[in-house]
Amino acid sequence: MNAATSTVLLEHHLKQLKLPSVLREYASMAAVCSKDRADYPTYLLRLAERELLDREVRAAERRVKAARFPVVKTLDSFDFKAQPSINQELVRELVRGEYIDRNENVLLIGNSGTGKTHLATALAFAACQQGRRVRFFTVTGLVTQLLERREDRQLERFHKQLERLHLLVLDELGYVPCSKAAAELFFEVISRAYERTSVIVTTNLPFEQWTEVLGSERLTGALLDRLTHHIHILEANGESYRLKHSKGRLRRPTSNATEPSSNQEG
Ligand code: ADP
Ligand code: MG
Repeated sequence: MNAATSTVLLEHHLKQLKLPSVLREYASMAAVCSKDRADYPTYLLRLAERELLDREVRAAERRVKAARFPVVKTLDSFDFKAQPSINQELVRELVRGEYIDRNENVLLIGNSGTGKTHLATALAFAACQQGRRVRFFTVTGLVTQLLERREDRQLERFHKQLERLHLLVLDELGYVPCSKAAAELFFEVISRAYERTSVIVTTNLPFEQWTEVLGSERLTGALLDRLTHHIHILEANGESYRLKHSKGRLRRPTSNATEPSSNQEG
């Protein structure tokens, strides 16, 4: 067999075997290894390592996509100095993801703009990198989906999908009050996740006010009972990061710039 034929066959086989990184790198790696005087097993090892590494990166990318973050955020871009009320040590521990193995939950509580969504996303993004299945919802988005699935008689299937997750992020509890049906469906999600799937909840409301959102006192009690049994609480009580930065931007051009009114959105 001449060299051209064996190259064509090799590349065909590598494609069949789904080894794109080996296919891409085998020639250049051969040159590197011959320069290093590496033996055949070392050459093969380096190619195998390359394929495995690339496979992990692609899998993590797929998990991040499947998580449907509104915006991808990482801990690297979080400025702890801007929000000194946040327990940095706890965040650094949580980002390692061991709480997920123990099916523990995280609650991020604080005013609008204090970085709750950012931190929840960063923790969940790290979980994706660690090989964990994650899904991000706003509470309103989740409730809408639950109501729709119930309408389509797909509710049980949806619950089964949620149960396959390692981590469920529920962002912005408290901005919109729930109907009775919605509160019950939401409770069902928390209840089925209990000691099975970790949940991160972000909220602007202290526990005492959760009844105002969920309606029933009994249901709120039962929900809090499950959610808080194994929980890490991160509290942010500083100034809004958005507001501080927009004030900065508005001050710069002229001295008589108007102050923005305090913003209410999450
Ligand atoms: P919350 O969910 O508490 O309302 P967000 O997480 O949405 O707040 O934060 C609002 C915006 O400000 C986002 O773009 C976020 O990335 C940014 N932000 C908030 N706090 C910080 C921080 N300490 N360091 C860097 N960016 C921050
Ligand atoms: Mg938010």
